[in-house]
Amino acid sequence: MNSSRREFLARTAAGAAVIAGGSFAAATPALAGSLRANSPLTALVDATVIDVETGQRHRHQTVLIAGERIVGIGRLPVPRGATVVDATGKYVVPGLADMHAHSLGTEHVSPPLYLANGLTTIREMAGNDPVLYDWRDRIEAGTLLGPRMVVASKIIDGDPTLWDPTLTPVIVAGDEQSGRAAVRRAKAEGADFIKVYSRLNRATYAGILDEARKLGLTAHGHGPDALTTKEVSNAGQRSIEHIHSIGLSVSSREADVRRMVRAITVQKGDYNSWFRQMHPIEWIAAQTYSEARAADVFGTLRRNRTRVTPTLTMHSVLDQPDYARIDPALTKYMGAEELAVYDYAIENLYKPNRSAEEIAHQRDMWAWRKQFVGELFAHNVPILAGTDTGTPYSVPGFALHDELEHLVAAGATPRQALYAATAEPARFLGRAAELGTVEAGKIADLVVLDADPLTDIRNTRKIHSVVTRGRVIGPAARTKMLADVEAAVQAPPTAVALSAGGCCGAAGSGH
Ligand SMILES: [Zn+2]
Repeated sequence: MNSSRREFLARTAAGAAVIAGGSFAAATPALAGSLRANSPLTALVDATVIDVETGQRHRHQTVLIAGERIVGIGRLPVPRGATVVDATGKYVVPGLADMHAHSLGTEHVSPPLYLANGLTTIREMAGNDPVLYDWRDRIEAGTLLGPRMVVASKIIDGDPTLWDPTLTPVIVAGDEQSGRAAVRRAKAEGADFIKVYSRLNRATYAGILDEARKLGLTAHGHGPDALTTKEVSNAGQRSIEHIHSIGLSVSSREADVRRMVRAITVQKGDYNSWFRQMHPIEWIAAQTYSEARAADVFGTLRRNRTRVTPTLTMHSVLDQPDYARIDPALTKYMGAEELAVYDYAIENLYKPNRSAEEIAHQRDMWAWRKQFVGELFAHNVPILAGTDTGTPYSVPGFALHDELEHLVAAGATPRQALYAATAEPARFLGRAAELGTVEAGKIADLVVLDADPLTDIRNTRKIHSVVTRGRVIGPAARTKMLADVEAAVQAPPTAVALSAGGCCGAAGSGH
């Protein structure tokens, strides 16, 4: 260690509170470890640091990073030997999270696409392929570059399941005992949490949640058709995905609507039929939206801290089957084969069975879902930003920026949208002491932006650099990372690709 470095570290240790404006009080043993270790120092100089909790902009800040931690923020001198990133005129936000993703392709595709887009955390919503647990563990060990991953169990669905088990390795559980066994199996396979699904019956669902609690796992996923949103929240499910089931619970005719949903019958693997039967029921629920019911249901979600992941990115495509593919990232970063599967799913499975009236209703449903999400924000329901990447035309990493834009279009402020992709995920994952905000003592997961995301959320796309666990991916490295992905998707695969079941399934539908 050179002398200036030793001096600097002595100063930070002794005069920490002065240097960091008090935030060093958060120093942890891990932080002390970073300071002692002979780890590289990086200084982001003259940045505007965005506080996603208050919306404040702290200007002319130096963010000092030692190893994987932020060790100081303020108007600080730059220690000799530090790598300097000139952040004059730039904005620093916490690393982003996609809280509903289904990774695609090989380790040369999804992990770098996430990082290049500023995503430093991913909640993988179906542990359908063991390679996902392998990526998670190698990323954690530092032997694969990618975002931190929290990976679901395989989908646990009722019997008959919406998925074709010969194509997608779901776990089918038709009674309480098989539900409990599914949870034990998921734990043994390495799942971080249990993914529950639409067709679970009441007894199976109760068994799953009880067994998960015993094994120290949480349950996240779809609200099962058999239960109301309040029942799901009060049962302790930690997050509810998509606007399907939750949209039904705010109808003045909820009892009728639930009866209709319980009457749905689906053959094994016929996801498309479930969608077709759900559409008219969703339509009735949307037409009979009750503010009183919404206040009641949203209050329950808020009090229980049950998160909602609207996945508007997925809904935007499936609600608008004549959706025009205009995103240039699609052809650059997705293989022709994947795109062909999506086109096939939309054109041949999703679109043709619908009447003109149904399609018109679906388009109106899209407008309604955005209003609904606006109401969630207005009622302070905790929201997670998630895309359902893996459904048609959603590109890993890029999609999160689409989702942020959708959340703002739905009525969130840019700060609220950012919060849903940073601080709220950190709290949800029980990692708020280390992740989710730009503060001394926390892990240095950061995005440096060329423009202010609080004035226009689309500025989250104007990425200058990404910092993941203290490692800076500067403009040149980021450009190369994207070029390498482009080359990888155009070339025949050289690494193990995720099985098709991890992605869009026969119906090309939401997970
Ligand atoms: Zn999904």
